[in-house]
Amino acid sequence: VDLPIHDAVLGRAAEFGATPALIDGTDGTTLTYEQLDRFHRRVAAALAEAGVRKGDVLALHSPNTIAFPTAFYAATRAGASVTTVHPQATPEEFAKQLADCSARWIVTVSPLLETARRAAELAGGVQEIFVCDSAPGHRSLIDMLASAAPEPVVGIDPAEDVAALPYSSGTTGTPKGVMLTHRQIATNLAQLQPVMPSGPGDRILAVLPFFHIYGLTALMNAPLRLGATVVVLPRFDLETFLAAIQNHRITGLYVAPPIVLALAKHPLVAQYDLSSLHYVLSAAAPLDAHLAAACSRRLGLPPVGQAYGMTELSPGTHVVPRDAMREAPPGTVGKLIAGTEMRIVSLDDPGKDLGTGESGEILIRGPQVMKGYLGRPDATAAMIDTDGWLHTGDVGHIDADGWLFVVDRVKELIKFKGFQVAPAELEALLLTHPGIADAAVIGTYDDDGNEIPHAHVVRRPTAPDLSEGEIMMYVAERVAPYKRVRRVTFIDGVPRAASGKILRRQLRQPT
Ligand code: ATP
Ligand code: MG
Repeated sequence: VDLPIHDAVLGRAAEFGATPALIDGTDGTTLTYEQLDRFHRRVAAALAEAGVRKGDVLALHSPNTIAFPTAFYAATRAGASVTTVHPQATPEEFAKQLADCSARWIVTVSPLLETARRAAELAGGVQEIFVCDSAPGHRSLIDMLASAAPEPVVGIDPAEDVAALPYSSGTTGTPKGVMLTHRQIATNLAQLQPVMPSGPGDRILAVLPFFHIYGLTALMNAPLRLGATVVVLPRFDLETFLAAIQNHRITGLYVAPPIVLALAKHPLVAQYDLSSLHYVLSAAAPLDAHLAAACSRRLGLPPVGQAYGMTELSPGTHVVPRDAMREAPPGTVGKLIAGTEMRIVSLDDPGKDLGTGESGEILIRGPQVMKGYLGRPDATAAMIDTDGWLHTGDVGHIDADGWLFVVDRVKELIKFKGFQVAPAELEALLLTHPGIADAAVIGTYDDDGNEIPHAHVVRRPTAPDLSEGEIMMYVAERVAPYKRVRRVTFIDGVPRAASGKILRRQLRQPT
């Protein structure tokens, strides 16, 4: 565990040799473990020769490609901290991130070069922009493979030095730079390994982005550490995704709830041979238990499992273990992984620990808790208390066997006359209505200033006349009175992040 992340992940690359490490799911280009190991060392040498020094921040700005891991491990081997950037970020958003972490280097891809140039101009301080593929006037990773420079010898302290600097999703506020050390990331990989086993012969489909900590861990670091093959797709498109599962005989999927929804419901799914799949795991946002069951029934698989985590936790704390997917109770996000402590404390009296079945805020302590938010000691102190407990901001409870259920985020709970209502529960219920295609619930205020559950509903084309009254009645018949939906607005689509997280802030902003 106490190795820099590139060594922790690629330590067995020589042993896996000619096994394909990465396959481009669109054109079949393959990178073996031997190549990945050799290439990232050459690129590290070239980066060092170009001036990359220990402690520099390098921004990796790319959709999923087979070159992404090479760029990432080369940068950390050269001593840099890698800040991953959303490939769809605007130049302004990208510039903000560059400036926030004083990034000195960018690695991008030619189709995104203009955005990267503009961002670098706006932010200032960027020394050079490299490209993974090729672009006139820019050094590329391909050129770098021919570098004769010596491999850099950088003294990395795994306990202190920041390997990755992902930005949190910004679902609830401004994205913050999350400092994750080599040790935090490597420890979490070791903790997850027994419950997320993998190895040569396992073929993972990487459609969720590597730039987010979930993809970086589940789709890149974890499988590459164990000799699996990662088939890479640049973006989610249902047909390409299904064809890739069929053609590459994919064995495992790590996805987010919108993909589970597509697998459960979309007519196209029936046209593909998905029999190579052994397991599906979902994380990053609440997954409705009925939807999970519908998906696994349709695919003839063990129940869809879940995992829970956050950027600040490197990222994992709970997983439904691979060998327990059949016995895990529906809706659980999993069991606490080894070497990690959890408490569930009262929302009204934060000093009070709660018992089985009682919902409160989830607190985590363990070696995977982040070093802190970059340049924001106050925000860090608000998140991690002096005893080392990280306050997740999520509400949950455990059952008698220790399975965790996540109810919602504390910030999103609606307080109706003193009772707490979880939007996620009402959203799952609304989705069971045959006339509702999608739904999001937020707290708004009635004329007397009471906070009330306010549903935003997308009607199915088959139910254009579905009324507010019918929807409120549907919910009222199925929940305790305090949870009733008290206002309905019809919208064209629910604003969501790629991970399926509902962007409730956008519903609050009057447009
Ligand atoms: P920000 O902190 O910037 O508002 P974010 O919290 O959405 O953004 P992430 O770190 O990407 O950023 O997401 C972590 C959050 O995702 C968790 O705090 C939790 O609310 C949610 N989450 C993760 N896994 C699950 C899951 N299995 N079920 C429900 N929610 C989940
Ligand atoms: Mg968060």
